[in-house]
Amino acid sequence: MNPIKKPKGTLDILPEESAVWQALEDKIRKAARRSGFSEIRVPTFEFTELFCRGVGDTTDVVNKEMYTFTDKDGSSLSLRPEGTAGVARAVIENGLYAGALPLKLFYLSNFFRHEKPQAGRTREFWQFGVELYGSGSPLADAEVIMLADGLFRSLGLDNITLRINSIGDGKCRPEFRRALIEYFEGHAESLCPTCKERLHKNPLRILDCKNPECKEISKGAPKTLDHLCEECGTHFEELKKCLDSCGVKYVVDPMIVRGLDYYNGTVFEFTVDSIGAQSTVCGGGRYDTLLGSIGGPDMPAVGFGMGITRLIRALEDEGKLPSPDTGADIYVASLGEAARAASFKLAQELRSAGINADYDVCARSLKAQMKYADKTGAKNVMVLGDNELAAGEAELKDLRSGEKRAAKIDARSIAEMLA
Ligand code: ATP
Ligand code: MG
Repeated sequence: MNPIKKPKGTLDILPEESAVWQALEDKIRKAARRSGFSEIRVPTFEFTELFCRGVGDTTDVVNKEMYTFTDKDGSSLSLRPEGTAGVARAVIENGLYAGALPLKLFYLSNFFRHEKPQAGRTREFWQFGVELYGSGSPLADAEVIMLADGLFRSLGLDNITLRINSIGDGKCRPEFRRALIEYFEGHAESLCPTCKERLHKNPLRILDCKNPECKEISKGAPKTLDHLCEECGTHFEELKKCLDSCGVKYVVDPMIVRGLDYYNGTVFEFTVDSIGAQSTVCGGGRYDTLLGSIGGPDMPAVGFGMGITRLIRALEDEGKLPSPDTGADIYVASLGEAARAASFKLAQELRSAGINADYDVCARSLKAQMKYADKTGAKNVMVLGDNELAAGEAELKDLRSGEKRAAKIDARSIAEMLA
């Protein structure tokens, strides 16, 4: 029978890798908590309408990439393609907007997009995301940027670039949009088919297109920053001042527009060039109209999404991947029936005492047990046989240094020796 394979664009995170993921997730959660963000967990699927209204139905994410299905009652559901819309829905549904403000939330979850799988792009992927509700100040933009920047620095990532831009708001964007359409109409023949389609529906997206010809044409396009109203211009200048005051380096990049409709004002990305074409590790910005657009109160908000697999690639590239040790603190090996029963009991007692203990559950030879202890990276080993049981004592061997010590066969005293 043919073995069944995983669907295209999905990942198996194997035990060795998942230890790295856990170490990384631990650092991420700690960084979020240090900045006062609390974790929120929302459903993996939502009503399709939420993403159409929240993310925007002219975006590729909603239009082309969603995993949508009909539920048994006929309603249309979609696997979440991003995190912001679901969190915004939860903020409204649970009345969180009426609590202490600003509301600072984060999530670490999986998302689903039917994209062409390639290096740094999968159909199921993971994001660390933060959402800050209730502040329209540039300080709030700086707050989420500083969280990402601080995390990257604490992980030791050196070759990462922060790119910032402002795409304006309801006041100045229409004028910019007109200028963009006018410019791209003059180059319509050379645009890729998707961009031709976008030209009148969502011209900003053309600036985000990865097609080389569109990229080239975009270079001459009008720049958002030249079309900002006074309020947006001042906001952007204030943000730059905040970042400058903390010595955070950034590049002002007029090509950063982001792929989702809900953004306004500040947008930003962190990119790592060495990881290839999918170089954006983190992307975010302001979305002051999102809550209102899905039926909530008007409330300014800012946040980002950080791709975990791209972060891992960047860390790998710089040799900065955390290297957690997963081996048992002690492997209790046994020789003979009586010792096997004793090793079982001792290992269970050691675990109760907080020690990572392992033992043989396959009734194998001592040689095979020692091989297993070695292969799985056990740090210490103790061999129990009839003589050891009779004496109530056995040798505790440190497998890394080779040091041997006599130890009582007693969980508490072994735990003390290993402490
Ligand atoms: P890109 O332009 O690379 O497609 P995006 O603008 O679609 O990114 P967002 O929706 O803002 O990305 O998501 C934030 C981050 O999540 C991205 O910067 C990236 O690190 C990660 N990400 C997005 N889509 C994928 C994917 N299909 N596979 C892996 N990571 C992804
Ligand atoms: Mg994308």
